[in-house]
Amino acid sequence: MTIMYTDRELRCRVCGQAFVFSAGEQQYFDRRGFQTPSRCPDCRTGESRLRSGFVGRRRGPAGPARPAEPAPAPPPRTWEVACFRCAAPTHVTFRPREDALVYCQACLDEIFGSYRQAHAGGDEEAEQDSVAAAEAG
Ligand SMILES: [Zn+2]
Ligand SMILES: [Zn+2]
Repeated sequence: MTIMYTDRELRCRVCGQAFVFSAGEQQYFDRRGFQTPSRCPDCRTGESRLRSGFVGRRRGPAGPARPAEPAPAPPPRTWEVACFRCAAPTHVTFRPREDALVYCQACLDEIFGSYRQAHAGGDEEAEQDSVAAAEAG
């Protein structure tokens, strides 16, 4: 069974801008059971940034005037993507290519940790060789 995916142009329901929902993304979304995005990537990241960064102003009893705190530096532009391996939402500071495989930090650690382990024991092969030689002899 093969499903053919083709690039689709969707319209963002927030800003009305057309954006491309690429074949690769569709396949990825389907496999992960995600819904078709209704917002463009800009609005998606914009909203997630607002949600995490917005702090409501509360009216409390009038107290001593606090000196205005310096405005914090704006957070670096990030894109929210789903980890290719565990689908956990993760933030990257680069715009991911549509066919890029993005992993969360935990998966990266696992992947590269096991990679290092697999390549750390360089002596094993030589050992096995000598065992094989001993058996042959
Ligand atoms: Zn938009
Ligand atoms: Zn992950």
